[in-house]
Amino acid sequence: MQVTQALAELATLGATSGGIDRGLFTPAEHAARTRFAAWARALGADVTQDRCGNVFARIAGSEPGLAPIQCGSHLDTVKDGGAYDGAYGVAGGLAALSMILTRGARTRHPLEVVAWAGEEGSRFPVGTLGSAVYAGLIHYAEIAELQSADGEPFADAFAGPSGALAGVPVRETNVPPAAYVELHIEQGPVLERGGARLGIVSAIAGQRRYAITVSGTAGHAGTVPMRDRADALAAAAEVVLELERSARAIGDCVATIGTIAVEPNQANVIPGVARMRADVRSGDDATIERIAAALYDACTRIGERRGVGIAVDETERRAAVAMDAAVIETVRDVCRALDPDAFVLTSGAGHDAMCVARVAPAGMIFVPSAGGRSHVGEEHTAPADLELGVEALANALVALDAAFAKN
Ligand SMILES: [Zn+2]
Repeated sequence: MQVTQALAELATLGATSGGIDRGLFTPAEHAARTRFAAWARALGADVTQDRCGNVFARIAGSEPGLAPIQCGSHLDTVKDGGAYDGAYGVAGGLAALSMILTRGARTRHPLEVVAWAGEEGSRFPVGTLGSAVYAGLIHYAEIAELQSADGEPFADAFAGPSGALAGVPVRETNVPPAAYVELHIEQGPVLERGGARLGIVSAIAGQRRYAITVSGTAGHAGTVPMRDRADALAAAAEVVLELERSARAIGDCVATIGTIAVEPNQANVIPGVARMRADVRSGDDATIERIAAALYDACTRIGERRGVGIAVDETERRAAVAMDAAVIETVRDVCRALDPDAFVLTSGAGHDAMCVARVAPAGMIFVPSAGGRSHVGEEHTAPADLELGVEALANALVALDAAFAKN
């Protein structure tokens, strides 16, 4: 089984003029899961599914009763997404299984490839939906009542024509794997810039989001002298630059103010109110604390100096998720054997691995994204890098089988 050919086939499912559109339980996404199940069965794998739409392809190990060494990713996409985000880890997982079987290697643990359902949260409003339920982070009962963007309840969608796969048994219970490794495109420019073809993920970044409201005084743009102004937008501009400056100074983090709304938003009126949203991420929670403290401090100082009120409200908080030390070590060894330039990095984006990491030792392997571009139709990774990532995954699965021999 060729990963590039499999990805080209998947890319035809849900193709739009701008990219690929495969929301969970749509005909295109159902076709992708159907294709996955057929490919898995052709390799001799047992295929099962659960009520979330997760699909599991398993090859038995030599020792009965062991939990699987697992890999996987997702087949759903964002709207107008690319051909590699998620699909690579699923098709690449089957390609790695195929490689292991061709080599005649026999593992003690079963090997399992999972197509996780609804990772992008683009049709039902929960991200990493399938892996979160699998890991017990969300109860299925909550998911069953979710409404899709187009008004269909989750349980109805699963029971409908684009839901469950026909002829595939439904698992009632999920047992955590002995270890998990996810193969994924980087979705950023770090590997490409660093000249590496493989990356070892140490942590998935934690994230905080803030709503920042600057309250000044609106007034006539022609009559209020500069020294008498309390310009909300000018103060907001300082906050934007100050956050950028402190993120650069602290390092190992990213901070973004991506939206700003000005009131009354008139060319001849001094801005009275500016509302912004800030997004801060790092693989290290202590770093996030530092940048958060710097943000609060900057808002206090700028507000006092300019005579405006600046309110900062935290709207979202997600802790960083460290990958398992033993999995990182195993993955690093197999990656460096294939690419001496492979290095360790943090994932700025969330992945199914962050849910599985809550119940099992987990890690990730990245391959470069051309130009660091992702979640767009132009998403691309060189075929040779895709193939190398599959080889790294195959070697990692076999090495994890040995490394986690006692589980
Ligand atoms: Zn993804």
